[in-house]
Amino acid sequence: MKTFRSAVADRLLLLRSLRDAGMPLMLGAGLIVIIQALLPPATAVAMAALVGRFTGQSTLHGFAAGAALPLAFFGAVLLAGHMLDTFVMPLLLLMKARIDGAHRARVAQCVLATPAIAPVEDSRVQDLIRLAAADPATWTERTPGDGALAQFILLTRYLSVLVSAAVLAAYALWIVPVLLVPSLLGRGMRRRQWLRLSRLWADGVTDGRRAEYWRELATTLAGAKEARVFGFTDVAVGRMEHHVEARFTPIWRLTLTLLRTQWISFLLVAVPLAVVYSATVLGVVGDGRSLALATAVLAAGWSVFSMIGGMQDAFDIEGVRPVLHAHRDLRAALAPHREHGSRALPADGASPPVVEFHGVSFRYPGGPRPVLQDLDLRIVPGELLAIVGLNGAGKTTLTKLLAGLYEPTAGRITVNGADLRELDPAAWRRHLSVVFQDFVKYELSVTDNVYLGRSGPPHDPAALARAADESGLTDLVERLPAAWDTYLARSREGGVDLSGGQWQQVALARALYATHAGASLLVLDEPTAHLDVRTEFEVFGRLAGRAGDNTVVLISHRLSTVRQADRIVVLDGGRVAESGSHDELMSLGGLYADMFALQAERFANGYDDRIDNEVVPR
Ligand code: ADP
Repeated sequence: MKTFRSAVADRLLLLRSLRDAGMPLMLGAGLIVIIQALLPPATAVAMAALVGRFTGQSTLHGFAAGAALPLAFFGAVLLAGHMLDTFVMPLLLLMKARIDGAHRARVAQCVLATPAIAPVEDSRVQDLIRLAAADPATWTERTPGDGALAQFILLTRYLSVLVSAAVLAAYALWIVPVLLVPSLLGRGMRRRQWLRLSRLWADGVTDGRRAEYWRELATTLAGAKEARVFGFTDVAVGRMEHHVEARFTPIWRLTLTLLRTQWISFLLVAVPLAVVYSATVLGVVGDGRSLALATAVLAAGWSVFSMIGGMQDAFDIEGVRPVLHAHRDLRAALAPHREHGSRALPADGASPPVVEFHGVSFRYPGGPRPVLQDLDLRIVPGELLAIVGLNGAGKTTLTKLLAGLYEPTAGRITVNGADLRELDPAAWRRHLSVVFQDFVKYELSVTDNVYLGRSGPPHDPAALARAADESGLTDLVERLPAAWDTYLARSREGGVDLSGGQWQQVALARALYATHAGASLLVLDEPTAHLDVRTEFEVFGRLAGRAGDNTVVLISHRLSTVRQADRIVVLDGGRVAESGSHDELMSLGGLYADMFALQAERFANGYDDRIDNEVVPR
């Protein structure tokens, strides 16, 4: 019962999603599909009318005079059939694209409506997102567009069956159950069988993937060298065969079983048709009116079977149900995490806000140990604050907490005295601009890459130019083939790919553009790691000039650059171990002084001047 209710609910949901195609398209294409479904019974009636005229006339002349109307009707039905076939396919493809697009947009909105990213990182949620995104990887999977159209077309086919049944009933009522019951039984049987096969196919994807992996190792260049040198070509082929067999043996067995039972399906069609057709033919001899009706019965009888017989709809509808369920489960899984504060940022006169970490601890979901522990830190408005520490000290984690992408497991972060949890995340993020270490390289024009720093128009070309100057991007843009319009993607015609350092300049320009558009807290996580020392120094010189109007929080491994900061905090053991200016920390003689001395020595010896995890003394 529960399964039945769930199936009905899914089908209604599919029908409702037809609205996503837009009302005019839905009505237009819907009407065509309905007319198409009515064509088989209409053909039966037209043929009957024509035969009726023919049998009622003894001369060819008499037939020609009387048959004009039925002939025109018959011709119109055939013509309509051909014309509608031509029209309907592009319309249905457009409907499918719109329904799928709307569905995928809903999935994306559902994921993006979660202000923090921890719930989205959960592996179960990741699986649900993949499935709900409806990107078929095998022939058993379908999209909501496929399912919705199939469900609608199935309904129109039942309408067609109903009208054909009415035509049959006009000849003899007993024919209707004799044809309808076996054909519905046959459909139910074949539907169960083919869906079993499709489920078996879907269950075998793991073996399929493994077979594909070994095939790639054996045949692609990537694996070719090692496969030859280590001589595991035979092993690769053997493993591939093993997985192919594991995948296809059960499918082959089931296919044989299904083929062996197809005679039942054949009998369910053949016997009732034979009975009805023989009775019809025997009953019409010498009777003109009956001959016309018999023609209708023969045509309508066949259309009942052909309309009920097709199995494509079953694959389309059943193939999309896992997608619908994943979408529903995804919404349920993320719903509790959608709650967020709604307070506006309290203004206390200071334009860059005062941000404070009060006893903040944080452990990643499922992480082995807390990354931050009881951390206290006050970020003073307008300062250039550098955060340093060894790899894994928690510097990036601190910036993610600051951006509200994760919530502290203990303690709280306040902005102008208000708990970050109570603030409207969108409002808070308008004050914030970040260059993440793993920033995104958008395959867009340079202009769009920078404008993305602040969502939506109006764009500000003057702010764009300033951001480009400050990040050192202007010189680079002048050398690009289409300057600002150059696409940063090799796959685009005239597009280019940039080096790591050049991409960092683009990301930096994007973040700086956001500050010109109103963000007052700029967070830079290793923004210049790929730049050479001199360029990095120049960029930081310009950034230091920005402090005052903006607060700048900078994470860098290059201590020669960091020394320009107003204040440097050293993260160690999950908390702030040292805090002060370069000179203060040097005279303190602690971890910072050790790191700096080591870098200076390495630099003097011609090495890079970044903190090296392995050699820093503890
Ligand atoms: P830093 O920026 O100082 O190098 P991070 O903040 O990137 O350090 O990482 C601190 C610790 O948290 C590291 O041990 C890292 O492996 C772990 N970590 C970082 N991101 C995640 C994540 N998304 N899930 C689980 N652990 C993470």
